[in-house]
Amino acid sequence: MTAGEQLARGFIWLNFSPRLEHEFRLYQRDSGILQLRVALLLGFLFGASFLALDYFLGEPGLSNQLVLYRFLMNQSLIVVMFAATFFETSRHHLGWLGIAVCLNLAFSSLFITSVGEARAIGTPYSGYLLLIFYTYFFVGLRFWPALATATMIFAVVTAIFALRGMPTAALLYNSMFLLFANLVGATGLYNVEYNRRKSFLEARELKKLAGSDPLTGLANRGTFATHLDRTWRNGKRTGDALTVAMIDIDQFKKYNDRFGHQAGDDALTRVAALIAEVGCRPLDLAARYGGEEFVLVLPTCSLAHARERLQNLRRDIEDLEIQNPDSEVSDVITISAGVAQVYPQETQRSADGLLQMADQALYSAKQHGRNRVATAAEEPDLHTGVFRFNNLQVAG
Ligand code: GH3
Ligand code: MG
Ligand code: MG
Repeated sequence: MTAGEQLARGFIWLNFSPRLEHEFRLYQRDSGILQLRVALLLGFLFGASFLALDYFLGEPGLSNQLVLYRFLMNQSLIVVMFAATFFETSRHHLGWLGIAVCLNLAFSSLFITSVGEARAIGTPYSGYLLLIFYTYFFVGLRFWPALATATMIFAVVTAIFALRGMPTAALLYNSMFLLFANLVGATGLYNVEYNRRKSFLEARELKKLAGSDPLTGLANRGTFATHLDRTWRNGKRTGDALTVAMIDIDQFKKYNDRFGHQAGDDALTRVAALIAEVGCRPLDLAARYGGEEFVLVLPTCSLAHARERLQNLRRDIEDLEIQNPDSEVSDVITISAGVAQVYPQETQRSADGLLQMADQALYSAKQHGRNRVATAAEEPDLHTGVFRFNNLQVAG
């Protein structure tokens, strides 16, 4: 599913189709890492301030050892999570660590206060209130894990309050406060995540639109130029071959003249859809070069295979049987293609030179009668050792 389709379908349950969901999570994780570090740091400082209070006020019923023990348990997990934000491998576990930090804060507080139940200050439930907000907004959790964790904290804290024999009225008040904190936190985080997901999809869609041709949906010339440049540099590094194919619809002016511009646009779109299928491997690119001309970038593809793919495309377009009765080539729409291949690491040409080779091959296909594929590749000149463009083959 594309970002645009996902936007149209909606995502009220805060869930995308699997591929988009995966990419969103990576994006969210990496883009939120700085905020997460700041939040963890604040959490740590907050914990340290409490330790100072506990320690110097000397809570009755709580030994300093116990206070210190709780501090170490809570703070060390925050430190572990903070450290985990710095390493690519451990970033996968930030979700679980966030949940662990919150549960650890809740349960260690419950445990420690059950040890020191008789003390004067008592357990301020406002601490748990704070912890619920902390769970929603401070450890980088997504909505569903945060809701599950905060609900669990709410349920366990309320149950323990009840088991400890808190008077019913107090219990009701306390649990109402905690429940309401959950509601505020959940609503707030839902809105935050919903908007974050929306802008993620919109940004992707915008990027796609800026780089694509509105009529056919293929990449536009700008995207093609960037991609050619990137694959060229890649080929220079790896030593792999780079293949480019220029494709031009035969006698398309005659089709337009006969059936009108709208029908011409429809035919272009149908032809483009088949061209898109040829550029199907991850680094392939199919683009509209302009008018009724298209271009394919096919990295690491043997010349024979590229020729075969273009021949199949040529046949498939013939098989569409889009009538072009005025064409001198065939009574249906056909294409001519020029395929060129070089090894960027060995050649003296530039990427533009490769494109020129493909254009020359296309010209040759047109010269030989159209509705055919011509290929051009460089071969080493045995005398000079320089690669030269010297074998042009045309096949119908
Ligand atoms: P050849 O076999 O030599 O390529 O002949 P041709 O008629 O295809 O080539 P020419 O360059 O003379 O004409 C290209 C025609 O393509 C001109 C125009 O009518 C048509 N064309 C170009 N872009 C578009 C477009 O976006 N929509 C439509 N409907 N037609 C287009
Ligand atoms: Mg043409
Ligand atoms: Mg043309």
